[in-house]
Amino acid sequence: MLKGKTALVTGSTSGIGLGIAKALAAEGANLVLNGFGDSAGPQAEIAALGVQVAYHGADMSRPAEIEAMMAFAAERFGRVDILVNNAGIQHVAKIEDFPVERWDAVIAINLSSAFHATRLALPAMKAANWGRIINVASVHGLVASAEKAAYVAAKHGIVGLTKVTALETATTGVTCNAICPGWVLTPLVQKQVDAKAVAMGLSNEEAKKQLLQEKEPSMQFTTPEELGELAVFFCSAAGNNVRGVAWNMDGGWTAQ
Ligand code: NAD
Repeated sequence: MLKGKTALVTGSTSGIGLGIAKALAAEGANLVLNGFGDSAGPQAEIAALGVQVAYHGADMSRPAEIEAMMAFAAERFGRVDILVNNAGIQHVAKIEDFPVERWDAVIAINLSSAFHATRLALPAMKAANWGRIINVASVHGLVASAEKAAYVAAKHGIVGLTKVTALETATTGVTCNAICPGWVLTPLVQKQVDAKAVAMGLSNEEAKKQLLQEKEPSMQFTTPEELGELAVFFCSAAGNNVRGVAWNMDGGWTAQ
């Protein structure tokens, strides 16, 4: 379905971003990967799906590096047809104890980076009259949890950015939507499981159950593969007029 298209997924060396990248590659899209840590493994996984793959290590907290990454993608593949703004970090602390430097980092990586990548991707998408921008928000773009001030502010912000982008592209073949996962068992969440296990004297399995019990009625983690399929739907022809939604895949978290 996506043969000949190019997708750029930020933060795709791990977790949800890698899951979405694999789902898009399985549909034939060429991929530009980004993120920290091992990039050779994820590149090999994507190449095994029979598409072209490139990697750029831009730090998404730095606008100049985002510009370099978008220029690299355009040079390598002509243009970016599908932009998935996924890179994100978490920091958990009460507002009065929240390190100012962590607030700035979360806002830069989880929110401002999406603005920069979007502003740089839009001209070519509009010129081609086709494009998909998918922002990986969170249930925390719709509701709050204590001790996640920067994350919740950034995720509510990205849901707002999604709506504005959808309105500014509404008469074109470019769409913009957000995905709002509940708990997904990635390294980002494993850190929170580990912290809970230590704080409450629980085993890893007990801490996972406790985490789910507090918020997610299904008592199941959503998987990167399931989120990948939702991204594929947004890219399909059936998604042509799906614009500005914040689609939760959260085991009932926000239905409560
Ligand atoms: P993860 O830690 O597995 O992956 C994060 C990715 O972002 C990695 O590839 C990492 O290298 C990259 N990254 C981090 N900082 C970066 C930076 N400055 N520049 C470039 N890349 C950077 O986490 P994940 O759970 O897969 O999270 C992906 C997205 O999904 C995030 O936006 C997160 O907020 C969102 N999300 C996660 C969950 C969950 O339960 N895991 C739930 C809702 C939303």
